[in-house]
Amino acid sequence: MSDYLSGLNDIQYKAVTHINGPLLVIAGPGSGKTRVLTYRIAHLVKTGIPPWEILALTFTNKAAREMKERIAGVVGDKANQIWAGTFHSIFARILRSEAEKIGFPSNFSIYDASDAKSAITAIIKAQGLDPKVYAANKVYSRISMAKNQLVSPQAYATDPDRIMQDKSAKMPYVYKIYDLYVKKCAQSGAMDFDDLLYQMHRLLDLNPDNVVEKYRKKFKYVLVDEFQDTNSLQYGIIQLLVNYPGSPRNICVVGDDAQSIYAFRGATIQNILDFERDYPELVVYKLEQNYRSTNYIVQAANDVIAYNSKQIRKKIFTDKGTGEQIKVMRAVTDKEEARLVAESIVEMKNRLHLKNEDFAILYRVNAQSRVFEEALKNKRLAYKVYGGMSFYERKEVKDTLSYLRTIINPKDEEALARIVNYPTRGIGDTSLTKLRNAAAERGLGLWEALKAAPQLGVGGRAGRSMVEFVAMIETFQRWAKDDDAYELAKRVVRMTGINDQLKKDKTAEGKARVDNVQELLDGIKSFVEEDEVDELLDDVLDKSLTSYLQNIALITDFDNDANENDRVKLMSVHAAKGLEFPAVFIVGLEENLFPSTMALKAKDSRSATDEERRLFYVAITRAEQYLTLSYASSRYRFGKMQYNNSSRFLEEISPSCLALAQPMGNRATVSGVKRYQNSRPMANSGRQLRKSELPKIKDFRPSPVQKLLPGVKVMHERFGKGKIIAVDGGDKKVATILFGERIGEKRIMLKYAKLMII
Ligand code: ATP
Ligand code: MG
Repeated sequence: MSDYLSGLNDIQYKAVTHINGPLLVIAGPGSGKTRVLTYRIAHLVKTGIPPWEILALTFTNKAAREMKERIAGVVGDKANQIWAGTFHSIFARILRSEAEKIGFPSNFSIYDASDAKSAITAIIKAQGLDPKVYAANKVYSRISMAKNQLVSPQAYATDPDRIMQDKSAKMPYVYKIYDLYVKKCAQSGAMDFDDLLYQMHRLLDLNPDNVVEKYRKKFKYVLVDEFQDTNSLQYGIIQLLVNYPGSPRNICVVGDDAQSIYAFRGATIQNILDFERDYPELVVYKLEQNYRSTNYIVQAANDVIAYNSKQIRKKIFTDKGTGEQIKVMRAVTDKEEARLVAESIVEMKNRLHLKNEDFAILYRVNAQSRVFEEALKNKRLAYKVYGGMSFYERKEVKDTLSYLRTIINPKDEEALARIVNYPTRGIGDTSLTKLRNAAAERGLGLWEALKAAPQLGVGGRAGRSMVEFVAMIETFQRWAKDDDAYELAKRVVRMTGINDQLKKDKTAEGKARVDNVQELLDGIKSFVEEDEVDELLDDVLDKSLTSYLQNIALITDFDNDANENDRVKLMSVHAAKGLEFPAVFIVGLEENLFPSTMALKAKDSRSATDEERRLFYVAITRAEQYLTLSYASSRYRFGKMQYNNSSRFLEEISPSCLALAQPMGNRATVSGVKRYQNSRPMANSGRQLRKSELPKIKDFRPSPVQKLLPGVKVMHERFGKGKIIAVDGGDKKVATILFGERIGEKRIMLKYAKLMII
């Protein structure tokens, strides 16, 4: 048996080595579903299946990356050619090469939630509707729901149920806003997050140029992690790719119905049932051993989920030992709760020799993080909040990115509107409104209007500034043809005056903003330097600004935690899905918070509360060794003091699993607790040479592209010496280069490559 297969139990082994035909692994938390998926991909590649024929859909890009690293440990560099990522990132990548077939430019912009909401707000205002009644948030979520159910604006307008729901919510014109929003996105050459699914489905369904056949042929093996949380649209896309006459039907999904926590986003357990219906020849494996948690934790999880009558019953056991009982802490206020948690962390670090990074604080809603941040700061504990405002949503970062977006796609009105007068250049709101009105009359977009400002009656200083602004963007566009993304971004930051503007602010926050823009530039630089070519069908994934922008639009903060190091992790329970931590705190266990008021007051409160219970189940099962549950009798919420009882979920755990907290510091040291060691092996991706292995070259000067011809010996900054075997591609020249033994053959795009002839 190859040694990578030895880390599997019998059933896991069967699932991993099942190659042909549909496969479902349905099993409880910590039972190795994700491990099965990872090893199965490694096994497929090992048995000779080309890695680019494998499509693996994961919950985060980080999960996909970790998967690739592990797989690389088994099969080496080939792992990079696997198509692994989130639904959104994979579909964005496909749409990038196919968008024109469905009427979008290939350099389409991706609108994040804030872009989408601001576009919706603009429509609401332009329609003379009251933004207080038509809250952008609510309208956006109605539109999002429609898209996820494949309901077009036309279908929406004639759907009596939707129309009635909107009427009773006092928003009868949502259908109209939806229609205008879709048109506006099309005009702006933009897709929002839902479009990445909706348009992907549309692309395959309309099937221009037989595009569906192309991808069916390409993806011979499809794998999905966390299948319980895929919604019907995502499932529909999978079906288009896998379920057709003559298909090998090589689809493997893993999931746990008891961890389904996105019903509100349209994912239901129904998808597991549909899967069984659609693939009757399905082979199903159930895993029963939990490899993550000690027994008290597993038992508590079993106790809680037993209250949900509809879950598929599963036996779960662990041989990790009984472990410590689950601690319960009661506080009078939320502030006290946070203090107790911080003190506990200090105490546990000392007693159990844990590190900051071994701890996670999980809460029901993101707003709960603030008090914990303060308490952790007081105790001088380093921490990181996941899921708050992410790096790319910060104003200075978004402003800079908006310049780049505008250069690539000046029709992108959200980006353009952000920067037209930033840094201030005398284009005031009044002149802008005047211009927009004149443009609207002639059916022009903002970009066209700016170009023609004087003709549209906007003269004077504002009109001149508009013309100058357009000229500046056009200059950047010319440079963009030759500059790589980094060169261009650097020039933008300097020449637009963003840098000078930010530097004027000498406060700590001001300095932080300057640093953030610098960090953004550093990120672009490292993107450009990763010059390896990724096989995208026959095309290459280039290092252009377009490809950079589309990539980062989909980055979640999990993907971006390079400088994570030794910090306590704070995140919502939703965000913790699939993860594991040695010590977990689940906080705010009160009625009306966890379970949420919304669930308790829902029309179908039973099933809404079941979903909250599944969420609690997910939370408990993140813990490997230590679990603490806490609640506060009172807390400030929405500006008012609230008094709540402890959560019903606490009572669902057998008392024998629980230990009531003792005063800090007096607790006897538990003997026999070993120092926690991180036993998870670090995958060695073996992609780069170590510094010491690289030949020393003092003056590395890249040679001109036209001299890089087959047969020429070259030196690469990171890969060392190599020989060019072939050069292909027209405009985008790509060389196949054979490097030393550890690196092997690589395809590199010459335009941005750092290669020197030797
Ligand atoms: P979740 O439902 O929470 O996503 P999961 O079923 O995907 O959980 P994994 O994350 O794959 O579970 O595995 C849980 C932990 O158990 C991981 O640390 C994994 O490496 C380990 N593990 C899984 N199978 C085995 C095994 N056969 N031997 C040793 N460790 C294992
Ligand atoms: Mg998992």
